[in-house]
Amino acid sequence: MRYSQILIPTLKEDPAEAEVVSHRLLLRAGSIRKLTAGVYTYLPYGLAAIRRVENIVREEMNRAGAQEVLMPMVQPADLWQESGRYEKYGPELLRFRDRHERESCLGPTHEEVITDIARRELHSYRDLPVNLYQIQTKFRDEIRPRFGLMRGREFIMKDAYSFDTDDAGAEQSYRKMHEAYTRIFTRCGLEFRCVEADSGAIGGSFSHEFMVLAATGEDTIAVCTACDWAANLEKAAVKLGPQPAAVDPLPLVKVETPGMKKVETVCEFLGVEPERLVKTMVYLADGVPVAVLLRGDRELEEVKLKNYLRAKDIRMAQDQEVFDATGVPVGYLGPVGLSLRLLADQEVMRVANAIVGANEKNFHLQNVNPGRDFQVAEVADFRQICASDPCPSCGGALRLVEGIEVGHIFKLGTAYSEAMNARFQDQQGNDRPLIMGCYGIGVSRVVAAAIEQNHDANGIIFPVPLAPYPVTILNLGNKDEAITAVAEQLYTQLQEAGIDAFLDDRDERPGSKFKDADLLGFPFRITVGKRYAESGMVELRRRRDGFTEEVEVAGLVELVR
Ligand code: ATP
Ligand code: MG
Ligand code: MG
Ligand code: MG
Repeated sequence: MRYSQILIPTLKEDPAEAEVVSHRLLLRAGSIRKLTAGVYTYLPYGLAAIRRVENIVREEMNRAGAQEVLMPMVQPADLWQESGRYEKYGPELLRFRDRHERESCLGPTHEEVITDIARRELHSYRDLPVNLYQIQTKFRDEIRPRFGLMRGREFIMKDAYSFDTDDAGAEQSYRKMHEAYTRIFTRCGLEFRCVEADSGAIGGSFSHEFMVLAATGEDTIAVCTACDWAANLEKAAVKLGPQPAAVDPLPLVKVETPGMKKVETVCEFLGVEPERLVKTMVYLADGVPVAVLLRGDRELEEVKLKNYLRAKDIRMAQDQEVFDATGVPVGYLGPVGLSLRLLADQEVMRVANAIVGANEKNFHLQNVNPGRDFQVAEVADFRQICASDPCPSCGGALRLVEGIEVGHIFKLGTAYSEAMNARFQDQQGNDRPLIMGCYGIGVSRVVAAAIEQNHDANGIIFPVPLAPYPVTILNLGNKDEAITAVAEQLYTQLQEAGIDAFLDDRDERPGSKFKDADLLGFPFRITVGKRYAESGMVELRRRRDGFTEEVEVAGLVELVR
C-alpha cells in the first residue's frame, strides 16, 4: 500500500472526547470516526487491523472444526418471546417495528436465531456434534458507550454455538473452544489470562473469560503468581471469601405473585415506582444474595438512588451486567445491590432484610437474617481477601490486575433448546434436547485492547500479527531519482516476498513521515535516504524498542519477515 493512495486522516492533536489511549490513538491514527454515540466507521487502516484479528479467529475456529455461517442482524421478536428473553433482556436490546407492525430487534447476540436453525436442521444424533460461528456486527444499546471500540453500541463479534448430544460431548466442545481461544489470543501477540468467571448467577460450572491485561481494563482479576489459576474478582471472592455460617436449610416457599410484596417494600423504602423496579436477585455461587437488580427507567432510579447513597455516604461502584440463572443477560447491577456488598450499614441491612429472599426463580426464603444466614461481604474486602489469601489451587500468592474482557465462553446446557424445543433423536430413538454452548470474541474490542497494551507516547505499537502493514518504507527523497528507485525496489521486493509492505511516498518533510510512522505503529520501519542510497545500506528500526541497524538492501526481506 502506498501512503499516497490510502485514506489515513491522522490528527496532530489529542481529540478531547477520548478518555483512553486506544480511543485516542485510533482517532489520531485516522482509523475510526464516530458517527453517533458508540457507533463508528472503520476507515481503511483501522479496518485492516480488524481484518487481521478476523483472519486469525477464522483460521482457529475452522481448525477447531467449527463451520462459518452468517446470520441476520434483524431478528423477529417472536423468537425472543419463545426463549423468554424479549422481556428479560432489558434496554440493551434495540426493539422496533417494521412497516407491517411486526416487532423486531437488532441482534445483540444470536442464541435464538441459531437455536431456530438447530431445531429445523439438526434432527438426529448423526447430525451432531455441530459448532457454527459467524463474524458479524452486533448492536447493544449500551447505557454508557465509551472508550471508542472498547465499548461500542455497534461492534464486531465472533460468536459460536455448539450443539451436542450429551454432557460429555458438550464439555469436549467447550474444551475445544477453550483451546482455540488460547491459540487465538496467543497468535494475536497479546498478554492475556483465561479466568474462571462467576457462574453463580449463570448456572453450571463452566464459564471462562479471556482477559487482556491492561491498566485501563474495566475488570479486575485475581491471578496466582505461582500457577495458572486466575479468576475474576467476584469469582475469586466467592472461592476465598467468608463463607456463610452453616445453618439449617431454609424452607423454600413458592410465592404466587413472585416477589411483589417484597419489591413493593423496597420501592417504598427507596421512593421508586414499583413498575420501574424489576426484582431480580443476584447471588453468589453458594447462594449468598448480594444484590437487587434494577431495570426500567434507569436514569430516574439512579438519580434517587444516588441521592440516597450520597446521603448515606455509600460509595458507588461500576455498573455490572447481570445474568439470570440461564445465562441470559437481564440488565445491570444497580448501586443498591452494590451497597449491600459495600458495608453493613444499618439502613442497608434494612434494605437487605426487605429484599433478601429469592435464591431461585419464583421462590423466596422466609425469615432470612443477614449476618445469621449470610454474610454481607464488602467490596473492599474482596480485594483484601485476594491480596492476603492463598491461591485455592496451589497455595501461592495472589495478585490483582486489571483486564479487558476480549472473550467469553459458556456452557449453556439445555436452557435454549428446552425453551425453544430444539430436540434430536438419540441412538435409542429417544427424543432429547440439544446441549448447547456459546462462545464470543469481541473482534473490534481486541484491536482496542491490543493498543491499550501496546503503545508509547508516540503512538501505537502494533504486535506484528495484528499490524495492518508489518513494515513501512520511508522514502526521504521523493525528488531524488536514486533514492526513490531504491525505495520502490524495496517495496516491490517485499511485496513479492509476500510481505504486506507500506510505502510512504508522500511529498512530506522527513519529520512528519517519522511522526506518522510512529503514530500508526508499524512494527518495522525502513528509512531510505541519501546516505543509504549511496552506500547500498538502509536503516531498519524496530518500533517496539527502537532497536536500529544498518542493513544491506539485499538481506532485508529476511529480516522483516
Ligand atoms: P462486557 O462485560 O464488557 O459488557 P459482555 O460480558 O456483556 O461484555 P459477552 O456477552 O460475553 O459480553 O460478549 C462476548 C464478547 O463481546 C465480550 O467478551 C467482549 O469482548 C465483546 N463485547 C461485548 N460488549 C461489547 C461492546 N459493547 N463493545 C465491544 N465489544 C463488546
Ligand atoms: Mg455487556
Ligand atoms: Mg462481561
Ligand atoms: Mg461476557
